Amino acid sequence: MAKKVLVLGGSFGGLTAAIAIKHELEHDVDVTVIGASDRFLFNPSLIWLPFGKRKAKDITFKLAPTFDKNGVEFVHAAATGIDPIAQTVAVGDASYAYDYLVIATGYRNNFNIIPGLGPDGYANTITTLEDATLAGENWKKFLDNPGPVVVGATQSAGCFGAAYEFLFNMSYQLKKHKIKDRAPLTYVTSEPFLGHFGIGGLPHGEQLLGMFLKKEKIEAVTNATMEYVDKDHLKLADGTELPYKYSMIIPPFVGQDFLKSTGLADDKGYIKVLDTYQTPQYANIYAVGIAAAVDVPWQTAVPVGIPKTGFPTEQMAHVAAKNIASQIRGEVPEDHKEFADIKAICVMDAGNNGVMILADKMLPPRKHGVLVPGPQNHAMKVGFEKYSLWKMKKGHVGLP
Ligand SMILES: Cc1cc2nc3c(=O)[nH]c(=O)nc-3n(C[C@H](O)[C@H](O)[C@H](O)COP(=O)(O)OP(=O)(O)OC[C@H]3O[C@@H](n4cnc5c(N)ncnc54)[C@H](O)[C@@H]3O)c2cc1C
Repeated sequence: MAKKVLVLGGSFGGLTAAIAIKHELEHDVDVTVIGASDRFLFNPSLIWLPFGKRKAKDITFKLAPTFDKNGVEFVHAAATGIDPIAQTVAVGDASYAYDYLVIATGYRNNFNIIPGLGPDGYANTITTLEDATLAGENWKKFLDNPGPVVVGATQSAGCFGAAYEFLFNMSYQLKKHKIKDRAPLTYVTSEPFLGHFGIGGLPHGEQLLGMFLKKEKIEAVTNATMEYVDKDHLKLADGTELPYKYSMIIPPFVGQDFLKSTGLADDKGYIKVLDTYQTPQYANIYAVGIAAAVDVPWQTAVPVGIPKTGFPTEQMAHVAAKNIASQIRGEVPEDHKEFADIKAICVMDAGNNGVMILADKMLPPRKHGVLVPGPQNHAMKVGFEKYSLWKMKKGHVGLP
């Protein structure tokens, strides 16, 4: 009988793993994805949504037809529990049996990090479709009554690339709307220096980011610990108050709540994994993407998280897929890749400009790392968006 693979989550990690396993083993495997969302969301484009440059329909597609065409069953539901001994996943009262399980349930915003964040708070966020939509409604109101703008990332945040992209897009939009003079822009970050990005920085990154900020007349506060956000100002732990009419603050990410009770997750809700992306406790349970725990290999004055971006997420998913295929064939799962050793490939958009970030390894020590600035990167980011949406929608997960 064909082995059953269950994948939780249908985003970069889950979609890639599920379709890669099915393509590899075809009739020798039954693959089912359980996904809390019925749509794939290209989160990198959320930086544009508040400014009206993208609508939800431009950056999402329905998952069911994609999985159907690729021979994968899709269940639109949120998993609520895992029983590793019985090898079942609970979805409310229903239960799904598996031989192999891939956890790719990604992130949740941790708005508890400081008061004043979240949909009921004061600062905008762009890390989910709902957050970015609300940030867009508030942007429209801001245009009628502009003033100072604060963009930042809290202590323990890891998604600094999105904070920078939103910052530079904000600067571009303020100029476009001819209100830059009335809207002084400040970037507040827990990073120890500009361009740290949660990956320890890259050669000349600090100078390059510093130049970008200077050119755009953006003030920067690094090493910042935020205390709270109020309706018209951000308060830092050192007593500084930064007034704003519009703010966008990236919170830290954590794993999904239901994973905590499984005994597989750390205190942030991330799943501890080996470099085969198997859990140390169960050789048939894997975790990939943001759901997988990655150790922060340094201590900074203010804690920073690590960005688990799309490229490493897909790489982890492929390693997991290969290893599951090996196990099903009765072989030893031999594919492995440390997160730190995965290449860093990222395009940071700045409205009509940008920076390409390339490094031979995500985390130092590295042999090669380079930041390439220039307007071509805006076109590259748009190309990356169109290509990624096409690739994912068609299920061409074997492409780079
Ligand atoms: C604003 C922003 C900008 C970004 N920009 C870039 C960029 O430019 N380049 C880049 O490479 N990366 C970027 N990233 C990072 C990229 O989005 C992530 O690497 C990627 O989303 C990780 O994919 P994932 O599958 O691990 O998790 P997620 O994308 O978080 O997906 C998890 C999936 O699991 C589902 N799920 C959650 N709970 C359950 C449950 N209980 N049961 C079943 N399903 C569940 C969710 O609905 C979701 O579909 C950005 C992220 C953000 C937020």
